[in-house]
Amino acid sequence: MSNYIKFLPSYLIKRYQGWKATGFEENKSWFARMADVDQTPRVMVISCCDSRVHATAMFGVDTGEFFIHRNIANLIPPYKPDGDHHGTSAAVEYGVSSLEVSNLIVLGHSNCGGINGAYHLCKGTKNQKKSIFVHKWLSILQPAYNNISKEGTDEMQIKSLEKESIKISIKNLIEFPFIKESLEKEKLVIHGLWHDIASGELEMLDPSNSNFIKI
Ligand SMILES: [Zn+2]
Repeated sequence: MSNYIKFLPSYLIKRYQGWKATGFEENKSWFARMADVDQTPRVMVISCCDSRVHATAMFGVDTGEFFIHRNIANLIPPYKPDGDHHGTSAAVEYGVSSLEVSNLIVLGHSNCGGINGAYHLCKGTKNQKKSIFVHKWLSILQPAYNNISKEGTDEMQIKSLEKESIKISIKNLIEFPFIKESLEKEKLVIHGLWHDIASGELEMLDPSNSNFIKI
């Protein structure tokens, strides 16, 4: 194994040392205090792995404020307590049942490679690079693909799928018994958001009509 492990590239070491000497040093006592107590985030975010999605920057969030789980295309799989390894379901369970976050955000975004791949997989239009895990993961989106209008260009349909996927993820979330219980006891609320990378705009799912409205 040691043949495969290398030292960090120097630019990352320098960046870390820069943060340690400034951002950390200036807030040293605050970090020490945070380490002394359990984390108490009020918000959980499920966002895409995409490096352009930066939930903490968008909301000006500090260390300790957001409990974040990222996966390809910000999806919640259906509730399936079959004893297998379910990373997303485990993160959601921990966030809601142990940390007792009050707000659970599903954050989708524009230009999502995962959604694009799922669209073409469902449509059967593009030869995708063979995958062991990604295609299976993206198959969570089949019901979302079935729901979108097949009118308009691929680009328009992909944008619809980005938003529909957020609704499907929320639908799946509500089927988790511990989520349902927290929602019914009004200890938790769920939000659906879609972020446009190029314009910086953020749209919010309107619970009254299931449309997305600009914030
Ligand atoms: Zn994405």
